[in-house]
Amino acid sequence: MSDSQIEWTDVTWNPVAGCLILSSGCSHCYVMHMACRLEVMGVEKYVGLTRKSGTRMIWRGVIREDRASLDIPRRWQRPRKIFVNSMSDLFHDGVSDSFIADVWQAMRDTPHHTYQILTKRPDRMAGFLSTHTGEVLDNVWLGPSVENRDVVDRIDFLRQAPAAIRFISFEPLIGSVGAIELSDIHWAIVGGESGSAARPVREEWIDEIHDLCRISGTAFFFRQWGTCGCKIVTVRLYDLFAGCGGASCGFREFGMEIALMWGAIALFGAGLLMGMILGAFLFWAFIAYTDLVDGRRWRR
Ligand code: SF4
Repeated sequence: MSDSQIEWTDVTWNPVAGCLILSSGCSHCYVMHMACRLEVMGVEKYVGLTRKSGTRMIWRGVIREDRASLDIPRRWQRPRKIFVNSMSDLFHDGVSDSFIADVWQAMRDTPHHTYQILTKRPDRMAGFLSTHTGEVLDNVWLGPSVENRDVVDRIDFLRQAPAAIRFISFEPLIGSVGAIELSDIHWAIVGGESGSAARPVREEWIDEIHDLCRISGTAFFFRQWGTCGCKIVTVRLYDLFAGCGGASCGFREFGMEIALMWGAIALFGAGLLMGMILGAFLFWAFIAYTDLVDGRRWRR
């Protein structure tokens, strides 16, 4: 669990670790990089989930169910908005039905929390929920990620899933979604892609979704433009030395990190030199302004 910087949630809860790239929206999945970091930091459930491919880390396809984390929401007394599996996908094929059922039970047992489940596999979500529970939990929101028109069929699967609140994350939006229908969808989140290799988002794609939301009465939340077109100055020295190899950043940014490191060293050196010069001047001024008499210095 961690406090989240994502505006639409309070905390993340990750009973599953590991995933596999599914569609073009996954290409720059920041979670692969995060999993590598957590492995380096010694978090056991992330060990062995990623491997290096060129200059970045990618999933190996290993899925790990973390039974110990199932009780975490039960221990939280204060109501929270909880993003379920921000580091994975609860409906990945590698997650067993029985484990999803246990996650469901944890959510059922804690109606004071609101759970937000985002998936790129709403087909399995709809199938699982229809056959295994059929039950609508008022505190659970269900939603797919839809990055372009190639995957808009995910919205149809969302409609087949029994849910109190249905939402769609159009983030990272990397193409037009076309003339889709948003009736019965309560909430749409829209945003560009982040990261050093971010792909562009066009204003007209955002407007298109905004207009569709207006027609269907869907709440529209614009989250961010993403980082395409701006140079992100991120110092990832930790990754550099810890072995993630600058994953998720290309060689150009890797070079930038080294330049930043040397810049910081040069600034520190310049500060040190200035300090020494100032110290020498003050010492000279002290000597010049005083006289040595009987072994003691006296002011003139
Ligand atoms: S489904 Fe989500 S976590 Fe899995 S690879 Fe795609 S973006 Fe990453």
